[in-house]
Amino acid sequence: MQTQLKTLFVDCQTGYSKMKRYTFGDFFGPVDLGLHLAGKYNSLNIGAGLLAGSIFPGSNRMIFSGFSPCWGGFFISSMGGAALVFDNLGINMLSLVQKAAAPSVLYLNRIHGEEIQLEIHPLNIEKIWHSGRGGIYSLMDEVYSMFADLYSTDPRILAAGPAAKMTDFGAIGSVPIVKGKLTHVDGWAGRGGMGSKMFREHNIAAVIYGGTHVDEDFRDRKVADQWFFDRYQKKMTAVDFDATTKYRFEPNFETGGTFGVNYASLGGNMLFFNYKSIYMKEEERTALHEKYIVNHYLKQFNDETIKTKQQKNCGEPCAALCKKMHGRYKKDYEPYQAMGPLSGIFDQRAAELINHKADMYGFDAISVGGIISWLMECMADKLLLPEDLGVEKNPVFSIDGFDPVTDSMHNAEIGAGILDSIIHKKGILDLTEGARKFARRLARKKGREVLDKFLYTSFARKGWMVPNQYWTPGVLSPMAIMGKYYMHYGKDFLAPRKLGEANAQRMVQELMLDNLGMCRFHRAWAEDMMPDIIESIFGVKDKFMDNIRQTAGRINSRNASVFWESERNIDFVYHFLKRKQTVESSKDAELLNWISKFEENKHEAALDYWYEIHRGMSQALNEFN
Ligand code: SF4
Repeated sequence: MQTQLKTLFVDCQTGYSKMKRYTFGDFFGPVDLGLHLAGKYNSLNIGAGLLAGSIFPGSNRMIFSGFSPCWGGFFISSMGGAALVFDNLGINMLSLVQKAAAPSVLYLNRIHGEEIQLEIHPLNIEKIWHSGRGGIYSLMDEVYSMFADLYSTDPRILAAGPAAKMTDFGAIGSVPIVKGKLTHVDGWAGRGGMGSKMFREHNIAAVIYGGTHVDEDFRDRKVADQWFFDRYQKKMTAVDFDATTKYRFEPNFETGGTFGVNYASLGGNMLFFNYKSIYMKEEERTALHEKYIVNHYLKQFNDETIKTKQQKNCGEPCAALCKKMHGRYKKDYEPYQAMGPLSGIFDQRAAELINHKADMYGFDAISVGGIISWLMECMADKLLLPEDLGVEKNPVFSIDGFDPVTDSMHNAEIGAGILDSIIHKKGILDLTEGARKFARRLARKKGREVLDKFLYTSFARKGWMVPNQYWTPGVLSPMAIMGKYYMHYGKDFLAPRKLGEANAQRMVQELMLDNLGMCRFHRAWAEDMMPDIIESIFGVKDKFMDNIRQTAGRINSRNASVFWESERNIDFVYHFLKRKQTVESSKDAELLNWISKFEENKHEAALDYWYEIHRGMSQALNEFN
C-alpha cells in the first residue's frame, strides 16, 4: 500500500537532486501533484500513475505537466507506455527546475535498491539535430550510444527537436527500445509545447531513464479478474479486448485505429483545405470523402497497414495494438488529418513525407498542421507570396480537378518547405513567440483577412491551440485546457449551456484517467471501474474522487480563455449548426433558435454562444472549488 509519492527534484543548473516525499492522500497522482509543483516552482513534472507497472492494461502512460509555453496556462500532456520503464526508477515523479548552462541530456539509472544515478551532460545539440536521421531521431541515437552500456535492461529516451528551440509548441518524442534497438513506434507528448518547455526553460534536450528497481506493483491477476467478472461477467483481458476494438480492428468498418475508423465514418463531416470544407455543399463533401478518402487515402492505409497487420503497442503489453504502422511511419488520425486533408494532402506517400519531417523536427503535429493549412490558404488566396514563407510554389488548394497523388505531393513538398522555414526562420516566419502573436502581427501588416483564416483557440494574452480535428463546437470551447479531450467532441448538437456542462463532466473523467496515468483508449471500462479498483487496493475511493473534482476546479480557477478571435472559428460553429438543420434535418427548437441568431448577427450570436458554453462549464466546475 502506497503511503508516499516520491518526487525527484533535479536542479538542471547545478545538477543537484533532492528526493521529496508527499503524503498519499494529500496527493494521488501526477496531475494533482504536478499542479501543486507547477504553482510552486514552475517546474516541468514528468510522472507515472499509481498503477504503473501493474497488470492493468493502459496503466503506464507517462504524464507531463506544468505551465505550457504555447497555451499559457497549466497543461497536461501524455505519452503511451513510457511510464513502464520509468517505474523501474522507483519514483512517482521527476520534477525539473532551473536551467542548465548549455543544452544537455539528463541521465537517470537505478540499479536494484541503490540510489538513482544522475548526471547532466552537455550536448552539441545543433550538430546532433542536423546529422544522421535528423532532429529527435539523431538525438535519440546519440543519447543511446552514449549511455546504453550503463543499463542492463532497455531504457527509454525522451527527446526534443529543433521545434522546441524555435517555437513555443515543440513536443517530446520517444520510442520503445526493444532488445537494444530503437523501434520506429513514435510516442508523443505532443500537445502543450512540453518539448519547448523542457528545452527552453531547463536546457534539457533529452532524458534517458531506466533501471532494474522492482516495486511492489499490483499484479494479482486472479483478484483483478474477479473484480471484472463481478462487473462484466468476463475476465479483465476479455473486457479490455472488447473495449479497445476500435483501436485494433473494427469489423464493422473493416479497418482499425483512429485513422481507419475516423476516415471510414466521417462522410460529410470531413474537414479539408484549411476548414474551407465547412462552406461547401454536403454533396461536395461526401463526394470528396468517397473519391479521395475512401477510394484512395483510406484504401492505401487499409491495404498497406491493416491487411498486412502492421500494428504495434506503445511499449506496454497492450492488446489494443493501436500503433498502426507502414514501415517507419506511424499513422494516427489527427496528425495525418492536420498534415493530410486539412493541408490539401490526400495521399499516403505525401502525408508520410510531411508528417515524418514534422516529427523529425519535434513539432506538435496537430498545431503545425493547422498553421501549414492556414498559410497555404493565405498563399492560394494571394494574401501571402511563396517567398514570404521561404518556399517556391503556390499550393493547389481547391477541389476542382485535384489530383490526389501529384497535387498531394506538390502540397506536401510546400508544407515540408514551410517546416524548414519555421526552423530556419526564412521569409517572415518567426514562431518563437507562437502562432497567435505571429498571426496578429501579420494581420497588422497584411490585413485582418489573414488572421480570419486561422482556426485556433485563445488563452490569456498570447496562448493558442489548434483544435482537435473534429467538426464540432466542443473543440472550440473556452475550457482551461484545450487541445486534448477535456471537452465534449461528439457530433451531436448540444445547446451551448449543456455543452459546457458536458465539457465539465468530460474534464473530470479525463482528469481521473490522467491522474492515474491511464491510457484513454481503455476508458470504456477504466472510467467505470477505476474508482472501485482504487477503493479495493487503497481504500480511498471517495477521497480520490473528491480530489479529482477539486483539481478540476483548481485548474478551472485559472481559466483565462479568450473569445474567438478569428472569423473562421465563428463560421466553423455556424456551419456545424446549419448542417444539423439542412443535412440531418434536426428540428430541435434550440438549434433553430441559434441558427436564426447567427443569421441575424453572427458576431453577437457567436459571443453569446461562447459565453453560454463558458457558463455551463463554470457552473459545473465552480461547485468543486
Ligand atoms: S491503446 Fe495504444 S497507447 Fe494505449 S496503452 Fe494500448 S498500445 Fe499504448
